[in-house]
Amino acid sequence: METWPIGVFASIDAGLGVKLEVARELGVPTIQLHAPAAATRTPANARAFLARLADAGIRLTAVFGGFEGESYADIPTVVRTVGLVPRETRAARTREMKEIADFARLLGCDVVALHLGFVPHERSDPLYGEILDVTRDLCDHCRKNGQALHLETGQEPADSLLRFIGDVERPNLFINFDPANMILYGSGEPIAALEKVGRFVKSVHCKDGTWAARPGQEWGAEVPLGAGDVGMENYLRTLLKIGYRGPLTIEREIPQEPERQKTEIGQAVRLLAELKARILPQ
Ligand code: MG
Repeated sequence: METWPIGVFASIDAGLGVKLEVARELGVPTIQLHAPAAATRTPANARAFLARLADAGIRLTAVFGGFEGESYADIPTVVRTVGLVPRETRAARTREMKEIADFARLLGCDVVALHLGFVPHERSDPLYGEILDVTRDLCDHCRKNGQALHLETGQEPADSLLRFIGDVERPNLFINFDPANMILYGSGEPIAALEKVGRFVKSVHCKDGTWAARPGQEWGAEVPLGAGDVGMENYLRTLLKIGYRGPLTIEREIPQEPERQKTEIGQAVRLLAELKARILPQ
């Protein structure tokens, strides 16, 4: 299979991705998909979507779960609302995440991913054990479907993430590495983090960002690929070094400006193609 096929993060009716038509116009060979809303996760819709993918010559490489009520407004709001960490919504969201995994199976996709939320950094925190349990439960469900579960990075420093994955003790738990999130959340220098967690990285986002004045307390800014503090050439060289050969999935999270989103993703596709040509052994 081709090394580093370029991809984009796509949506059907939920999430921050681009429409499939945009992916097609951009000429990318892969997408990751934000799971559609519950009402539209039907076998008939799965078949119809598969037909559209086949027609466009696009391969689906991961399905991302997301939930109603999540907000990325600021860091405290993420802690309170995102993923499987908040107790009030955990049981319902875990059920929904399993339904999303089953929908992904209908799409023939063997990777399911999500933002778990802010996992406590201390093992002594009672919440830590609860998140271990729910992650094991989800991994076991995915494994029955023949799927891996990928955790989106961002909220945890690399060492915390490694310890958490080790403690979950499931063979199908991996990482979707997002270098910009490390900067946006202020959780560590992304290249050093990638080197540390590299053996678990099975999918990646190509997204860029700039550090906040007070990292970890306020958001950094998400910016067009190549315009931020990640350092895209260094990022790709590090991916090569850790042995990552999978898709490079571009994220640009400005769905409120679809024209600008499409333009900037188009520029990102060209940037990645240039860097691939320079970096990959011929
Ligand atoms: Mg991401």
